[in-house]
Amino acid sequence: MKDFTLNIYKQLLQILISKNYIFFTVEEYFKLYVSKSPNRPFILMRHDVDRKPNNSLRMAKLENELGVKATYYFRTIPKTFKPEIIKEIAELGHEIGYHYENLCEIGDKVKGKSEKEIYKLALEDFIENLAILRQIVPIKNIAMHGRPTSKWDSRLLWNKYNYKKYGILSEPYFDIDFNKVFYITDAGRSWNNERVNLRDKVESKFNFTFNHTENIIQALNQDKLPNKIMINIHPEHWADSQTEWYKIWVIRKAKNTVKKLIIRNKI
Ligand SMILES: [Zn+2]
Repeated sequence: MKDFTLNIYKQLLQILISKNYIFFTVEEYFKLYVSKSPNRPFILMRHDVDRKPNNSLRMAKLENELGVKATYYFRTIPKTFKPEIIKEIAELGHEIGYHYENLCEIGDKVKGKSEKEIYKLALEDFIENLAILRQIVPIKNIAMHGRPTSKWDSRLLWNKYNYKKYGILSEPYFDIDFNKVFYITDAGRSWNNERVNLRDKVESKFNFTFNHTENIIQALNQDKLPNKIMINIHPEHWADSQTEWYKIWVIRKAKNTVKKLIIRNKI
């Protein structure tokens, strides 16, 4: 069976529901779970909307049909920032967050400035984009978008500044303890592929290897997975038609080869 199809995603959601996991948005997690600490197993279904926002809308509709809530972190680059889609996803009961990349954006673009000035410009860029998103929907949470080709790490902005000053509750990398919450991601269209996930890594004591979504479904069936999980799924990798599936597969393969070369040259 082909992986990364909406059909398999539906099966994954169904097994999570049948195993009695409750789906929290990130905002709910910080407002309800952390303060009230129920013991029920939970899923933080997180989607990083890097590109192809229509794929996100499709996924959001499927989740809504199954009564599942997720958090969609949107980039604000023109091909991803589509206000109508953002609004529609929010109206389906999902949370919208900001997938920021300001330090990469400014650092890669601006030449001849000091590091201090670049950080200042990056913060201004962050504030501006946050305000633009907030004209469409309330934004309470942010998550970094990693650019594998950039020498900048956008998270480092928060060594100098504090996002909580801007009405932000969380950035998962800093506010979620991944030794307590098991984190899995499909970045690079393969599950937890450390060689490909240049920046999308978290420190964690959990050690599971999944080659296919089916392996996750099996592990859930056998009650082998922890009861607190964040799943980070990039909807752009998931297709529901044959042609689109192969198109994504070919592009991913080429991109992963390029990323591996970048990593090899860094080591
Ligand atoms: Zn991203």
